[in-house]
Amino acid sequence: MNEFGLIDRFFASIPHQREDVIFGIGDDAACLQIPNGKQLVVSTDTLVSGVHFLDTWPAYDIATKAVMSNVSDIAAMGALPCWMLLSITIPELDESWLSDFSKGLQEAMAEFNIALIGGDTTRGPLCITITIHGLVDSGKAILRNGAKAGDLIYVSGMLGAAAAGLLLINSDVINKTDLAVLTNKLHRPTPRVDYQPYLSGYAHAAIDISDGLSADLAHICKASQVGACLYIDQIPIHPLVQQYLPNEALQLALSGGDDYELCFTISPTLRNDFHEAILHSGLMCYPIGVIESELGLRAQTTTGEILPCASLGFRHF
Ligand code: ADP
Ligand code: MG
Repeated sequence: MNEFGLIDRFFASIPHQREDVIFGIGDDAACLQIPNGKQLVVSTDTLVSGVHFLDTWPAYDIATKAVMSNVSDIAAMGALPCWMLLSITIPELDESWLSDFSKGLQEAMAEFNIALIGGDTTRGPLCITITIHGLVDSGKAILRNGAKAGDLIYVSGMLGAAAAGLLLINSDVINKTDLAVLTNKLHRPTPRVDYQPYLSGYAHAAIDISDGLSADLAHICKASQVGACLYIDQIPIHPLVQQYLPNEALQLALSGGDDYELCFTISPTLRNDFHEAILHSGLMCYPIGVIESELGLRAQTTTGEILPCASLGFRHF
């Protein structure tokens, strides 16, 4: 099988249901129909073997993670994912590996109605770059720079599971079922595309939590030229993290990466409407703090004491 046979068999064969793909894989470039009133949102992410995943991971999981981390960036803009390009560098033509990888791609893309519209295939150390395209109503993309003093800060889910999974992967203190829950968050994160209808219309600023809550919230603060105060006792820590790593749990929730939940800010005047909309949707949201005009990241402890986040010893994994 040569390069073209490989592309045909493992990538061009992946089906999709999108009528806005005028032409996908097989020509010099893809051609796409952007509906009137929509804007294109584009992002790219590279996963390097040994850095973002280990080559011992199943190919299915590597593909899933590559798609999900890209979809998460589109979700964080308040957009819906549509099309994807895949540039893959592989050390050898391993049909069984490629078949599992292709299956992982196909299932992850089908979950969000994404079409694979092209890419590039080369030989070398394993590395995967996905470029993803999404659509958003014109002028409605949610940026990092829109947070305002007084905004309430939310996260979309419990934190710390992926980082705990990484720490506990070779540990014998955790049973197999619980470990699988944690490592599943690491290998197969669920990007919060389900939040899209509630972000647009409500959120002033949003980001996906890939590097850890404190680091990613700091990006919102820097871009918006504001600061933030987090309520330590309201940070939603995943229960298994609390159970198995009680001493590190808060730090993992604040600094552990790879959770792919969303962090966003909402005007206090929209609080009740937002809570009602979220309640009706069946989704969860967790208020964790407030945006302030004073720059920097602070944390209010259970006793009401306010400390700079840095002094709590938070570090980034
Ligand atoms: P070119 O030489 O014009 O760059 P290629 O031989 O690299 O074309 O690719 C042929 C076609 O296959 C193109 O449409 C390209 O987008 C697509 N393609 C190549 N590799 C991949 C891949 N890994 N996944 C999806 N499509 C791919
Ligand atoms: Mg090419």
